[in-house]
Amino acid sequence: MGHVLEIRQLSVEFPSRRGVLKALDEVSFSIQAGEVVGVVGESGAGKSLTGAAIIGLLEPPGRVSGGEIWLEGQRIDQLPDDQMRLLRGRKIGAIFQDPLTSLNPLYTVGQQLIETITTHLSLSNSQAKTRAIELLEATGIPAARERIDHYPHQFSGGMRQRVVIALALAAEPKLIIADEPTTALDVSIQAQIIELLKRLCREHGTAVMLITHDMGVIAETANRVVVMYAGRVVEVGAVRDVIERPQHPYTAGLMGSIPTIKRVVERLVQIDGSMPRLNAIPSGCAFHPRCEHVMPICRRERPELMVRGASQAACWLMAKEGTDG
Ligand code: SF4
Repeated sequence: MGHVLEIRQLSVEFPSRRGVLKALDEVSFSIQAGEVVGVVGESGAGKSLTGAAIIGLLEPPGRVSGGEIWLEGQRIDQLPDDQMRLLRGRKIGAIFQDPLTSLNPLYTVGQQLIETITTHLSLSNSQAKTRAIELLEATGIPAARERIDHYPHQFSGGMRQRVVIALALAAEPKLIIADEPTTALDVSIQAQIIELLKRLCREHGTAVMLITHDMGVIAETANRVVVMYAGRVVEVGAVRDVIERPQHPYTAGLMGSIPTIKRVVERLVQIDGSMPRLNAIPSGCAFHPRCEHVMPICRRERPELMVRGASQAACWLMAKEGTDG
């Protein structure tokens, strides 16, 4: 099939005292080897939740209530915890916003890298150390041979995130889930880290799911984009298509928020209002209360993803223009 990751109609629920809240509603997309797919949306759209569901770290009482997650042809959404833990180290690497959540302050970065490598690959300690140094060098850590014996607190924020990238790649995973990997970093460092992640994953053929609220980061990094709103996918397409010709009114609004130096992107639409709460997701198209193109059908019926040019968008405008020819 060629897909490293395939998500089919994934739904996640949170049972609550006032009933079941649907946090993800039939989310589907896939990522190929060497491909960076950006998952974008405002906070609360379900981006991080999708990542957490894939790595099997949904916070209880959240649970996968429907759909399937496939990693390299293996269904992984129903694996027991111990198997999932193995898979997380070996096949899925994770990079989070705060590098300190991935690093243990009590061990040197070398100890942590070597442990990850020897746990998942059949290498001796000295081979693992050589590989650890190579990884640190590949991520641009100067004097890696000395730095390998340093503790996380001895690195700057940007250098620490490089260490986390090295750690995420250490077991040669097939998939990396990077959740806002540069949000906590200085703007000047952000571009370097993004470039690094992109290059290393291309070289290693690693599939990347890049979760961010920042369209600018997506524009610089991703091959394809998945736009989420209120727990649903509202648009999927190649990054250039989605940026230059956004189909969904919500995406068009998001595009207005790209801070890019290279190109001046016109502010297309001002999106008023905010993302609905889980317990108050509007009927039909969840975006309808904020949409300036809203039609009667939008309030009644939920639009599925519809093909439009090279992209897909879940919006009744697609159907309308499609039938109008
Ligand atoms: Fe707007 Fe209707 Fe499209 Fe929703 S389906 S984005 S309300 S036009």
